[in-house]
Amino acid sequence: MNNYIKSMDAYKEAVNLMPGGVNSPVRAFKSVGLNPIFMEKGKGSKITDIDGNTYIDYVLSWGPLILGHADERVIKKLKEVVEDGTSFGAPTLLENKLAKLVIDRVPSIEMVRMVNSGTEATMSALRLARGYTGRDKILKFEGNYHGHGDSLLIKAGSGVATLGLPDSPGVPESVAKNTITVPYNDIDSVKYAFEQYGEDIAAIIVEPVSGNMGVVPPKGDFLVKLREITEQYKSLLIFDEVMTGFRVDYACAQGHFDITPDLTCLGKVIGGGLPVGAYGGKKEIMEQIAPTGSIYQAGTLSGNPLAMTAGFETLNAMTMDEYAGINEKVDRLINGYRKAAEDFNVPIQINRAGSMVGIFFNDKEVTDYKSASESNLEHFTLYYKVMIEEGVFLPPSQFEGLFLSTAHSNEDIDHTINAARKAFEKISS
Ligand code: PLP
Repeated sequence: MNNYIKSMDAYKEAVNLMPGGVNSPVRAFKSVGLNPIFMEKGKGSKITDIDGNTYIDYVLSWGPLILGHADERVIKKLKEVVEDGTSFGAPTLLENKLAKLVIDRVPSIEMVRMVNSGTEATMSALRLARGYTGRDKILKFEGNYHGHGDSLLIKAGSGVATLGLPDSPGVPESVAKNTITVPYNDIDSVKYAFEQYGEDIAAIIVEPVSGNMGVVPPKGDFLVKLREITEQYKSLLIFDEVMTGFRVDYACAQGHFDITPDLTCLGKVIGGGLPVGAYGGKKEIMEQIAPTGSIYQAGTLSGNPLAMTAGFETLNAMTMDEYAGINEKVDRLINGYRKAAEDFNVPIQINRAGSMVGIFFNDKEVTDYKSASESNLEHFTLYYKVMIEEGVFLPPSQFEGLFLSTAHSNEDIDHTINAARKAFEKISS
């Protein structure tokens, strides 16, 4: 049995210092009924907690660490850059370097603005879409998460394409009524919403592969249809690629599916583990942002030299071959899980896009929020507890995907499969 004595003590102290003892709710481990585990260090595919337990890490800081922890190339450059100062509030060559790389790699991005988080990227992209189109409403999908901005923390009203309701106290109803929420992968609901409100909709914002209800890929021509409908109504199509960007493929999900959105939001991998977000798109739209345009958005630490360095070095290391390499490891993991599930007769569904993997304890295909929420949470919790005891650190929720990095070895994968076999055996007994 792992011991968590130091984590327990640290948690007791932290709950009096920070709400729930954490700086982001999911870290509290509430959904699996455990206490938070305090981490001390990471190297490659492994992390070690303050009690000295080491785990194979499939959380990877919720996605950013596609090279694994403390990659030598990234650390070396960060050490060099930090010696010259941590922030200037003036442009640096490092910003040009990362911006150029992003523009070269992502077909739809002609110009980019760096910010500090995914939330900032989506909030800013929405303001830009509203300012550019002169319209107030936006359409989003149930189960897609776009950060904690007011317009985006909205749940669906009852009935198809009704106006939204606040998903958190503190989000004004006057804001919520401008957000329309419809089921993911349901193009008829999108069409219906546009028939009702199309002239007032500034943008559709969508996770091109949803990663926030577990991993749910787009079905059939869902993304193509979103492109067509937004063009028909002169609304913008915003791809929230905070999770998928440089994760599912070399040129993000949009390269993978060959769709050109008007605006793209980035985060996570683009910062290689430091706080970076970005939004970008057509030059004509991006130039509406201050100082060239009148739509305001700013940031004291935006384009921070350390953050730009970690982002650039990470993306630069991620060649097409590296993506192919991770994909092979994902195949190995998935094959092992399928076999284990079959052997122990545990119903699971595996959804996957590049190195984002969703394992649902569910006997039916998972295509949207409703089907995801029909998963067996008891099975998940049992599985989670076995995995952590076996030294496998997974996102502590059925509704979060897991991530692989270039640092994960075949031995890591095989250990994980063996751990899953133990978990499935327990579930089936
Ligand atoms: N958009 C998506 C698709 C995300 O997955 C997230 C975070 O998980 C965000 C936006 C918000 O990003 P951040 O947590 O960096 O604010």
